[in-house]
Amino acid sequence: MPDTGVNLRGMRQHNRALLLTHILRAGECSRGELAARTGLTQQAVSKILPRLIDAGLLDEHRQPATSVGKPRTLLRIRAGARHALGARLDRDEFHVLRTDLTGHIEASTGGPLPRGFTPEQAVDAIADAARRLATGAEGLLGLCVGAVGPLDHHSGVVRDATDMPGWHDVPLRELLAARTGLPVILDKNTNAAAFTRLWPHHSPRATAVVLVGTGIGVGLIVDGRLYRGPRTNAGEFGHTTLDHAGPRCACGRRGCVEILHDSAPDPHTAAGLLGIGLADLVQVLDLERIVLAGRAVRAAPETYRETVRARLAEQLPASRWQPVDIEVDELGEDIVSLGAATEILARFFTNPSGDIESTGPRARRPG
Ligand SMILES: [Zn+2]
Repeated sequence: MPDTGVNLRGMRQHNRALLLTHILRAGECSRGELAARTGLTQQAVSKILPRLIDAGLLDEHRQPATSVGKPRTLLRIRAGARHALGARLDRDEFHVLRTDLTGHIEASTGGPLPRGFTPEQAVDAIADAARRLATGAEGLLGLCVGAVGPLDHHSGVVRDATDMPGWHDVPLRELLAARTGLPVILDKNTNAAAFTRLWPHHSPRATAVVLVGTGIGVGLIVDGRLYRGPRTNAGEFGHTTLDHAGPRCACGRRGCVEILHDSAPDPHTAAGLLGIGLADLVQVLDLERIVLAGRAVRAAPETYRETVRARLAEQLPASRWQPVDIEVDELGEDIVSLGAATEILARFFTNPSGDIESTGPRARRPG
């Protein structure tokens, strides 16, 4: 039960968000279907829609009459009405892409970053790419960066990125907002990656998106929501211990999943070690699904899928009645930057009113 009351304004915001999200997920639907699916009355739907149409967010298209029924008017999200930028900041490269309002990728760019790059170099690279991608894009909603952590998502500060000297308490969100003039979100790369499983089609399944790249981390979907933790630092799975007497890791501890995986002689051994670590994670969180992603997985997808599956079957006594689906991600190198862009889009769809009221009515487009 909510702790506070909802006034008329809050209700209007909620209903706008509800209708937009339903239209997005349906692809297209009529006013009648919208009322039936949302539980709102037809009158309420008819009262809310004109503002969304005036703001340029929806297209109406008339379906030709069939011999029996009368013609229906279908509503669709106008994909080009707004855009979002998503970025990935890794230990050796960056990537930025632009999506339309439905999350479709329109353009992308990126490149390597020099060894031991400074925060200024990263800000320059991302801001320049964002500026190029923003050219000609109507209604840019913002930029979200999925970066290597640890970082503080709430304050937008990179704390002490593992294995990135000079990256101590860097206010990356503020620096990028000042350079781009855009609203900016900073999140861990793993959380951005997990967001691709939450929006636009929400999955309630308990999931770990395992990113195996220049580090190893997980984005966690627990009880249908992204679980960041109170200090927004959940998911540092790469630095859990497999062998307490093992080799020293970049984090300072010994025998972490990450150092053992990275020093394994071949992908099969590396994936096996990862699978043993993941069995513990499944036990702790009762996971239903593991999504394997990142460059090491992309280099040997079947080896990772089959080896992790085999290790989980061996390690988990309850795997007969508590099965875990193992998937290999199909978004490739876009997963983090696309997930980051969807964080911007999801925020817009949760509260479109701020944007609509600040921009005022837009010209209605013919057709
Ligand atoms: Zn470690």
